[in-house]
Amino acid sequence: MATSVLSRKSGVIVGEDVRKLFKYAQEHNFAIPAINVTSSSTVIATLEAARDAKSPIIIQVSQGGAAYFCGKGVPNGDQSASIAGGIAAAHFVRSVAPTYGVPVVLHTDHCAKKLLPWLDGLLDADEEYFKQHGEPLYSSHMIDLSEEEVEWNIETTAKYLKRVAPMKQWLEMEIGITGGEEDGVNNESVDNGLLYTQPDVVYKIFKTLNAISPYFSIAAGFGNVHGVYKPGNVKLRPELLKAHQEETVKQEGGSDPKPLFLVFHGGSGSSKEEFKQAISYGIVKVNLDTDLQWAYLIGVRDYVLKKKDYLMTQVGNPDGEDKPNKKYYDPRVWVREGEKTMASRITEALADFNTAGQL
Ligand SMILES: [Zn+2]
Repeated sequence: MATSVLSRKSGVIVGEDVRKLFKYAQEHNFAIPAINVTSSSTVIATLEAARDAKSPIIIQVSQGGAAYFCGKGVPNGDQSASIAGGIAAAHFVRSVAPTYGVPVVLHTDHCAKKLLPWLDGLLDADEEYFKQHGEPLYSSHMIDLSEEEVEWNIETTAKYLKRVAPMKQWLEMEIGITGGEEDGVNNESVDNGLLYTQPDVVYKIFKTLNAISPYFSIAAGFGNVHGVYKPGNVKLRPELLKAHQEETVKQEGGSDPKPLFLVFHGGSGSSKEEFKQAISYGIVKVNLDTDLQWAYLIGVRDYVLKKKDYLMTQVGNPDGEDKPNKKYYDPRVWVREGEKTMASRITEALADFNTAGQL
């Protein structure tokens, strides 16, 4: 049981618990889905699926998702909506997660160079929370400088890892490029070579970061793409992940065959076999976003189509012209349908990644 290695078995986990959970996942050949959330409703769908499948889970907000938590109507030029929304999301997850009885890694998604003020704002909040509670508000953040020059990417990531190391906060970094389009970053026409990171580069990152803190993971491009595209357009090369582990073992020695914690971006649309292979090479986290946006819509869409005649007026439906429709248009009824279909898509991922039943 994964909880046997954790000091906190339920709710948001931090520090050494995060590393232990990821190591346990590698040893037991599973990965943890990272679910992008944008509202209390999507958080709940996620926690419910994790609880029912007896699985640990990663909940993450993107910069856009965090802004949405604050409200689409709030100007966000200085990232203030994304900072406030990110803080609110974290407090919400921290408050409700223990009632679901599963360990949750609370994380932020891609932060490109131009979004660094967002990460800086959240780190201020983490440090403030750390002063009061002895732990950061978030378990983990991602910094994504993969569009920048490699040296600068590594150097700047190292600076951020130095900042978060005293809080034992996890940092995920990206090298190489995840293709496709997500949250306004468009890599649809990127040069093919950049989609496949080489083992010597990954080792260099490991060496630099490991000298600062053991709490980091690497999202190395192996042909993965954000979004869902026509089959055949994406050529994944998971064997590159194996080469990364082997190169690091060769350079560092030691008995651990998987010294790198690796992350799989662009999980939507990949095959079960591709997941299985990637997980066997030390992937501990798989990001899922696009498929879940679709899944959430299905429940709402089908409900509205099915109940259309009960949703056109507040009073009056096929059962009688004086019949009230409140029980059909209450958001708790139709939003709930989206939660159910999203949760069942997460349940599928938990089975695919071998996460189900690990608690
Ligand atoms: Zn991603």
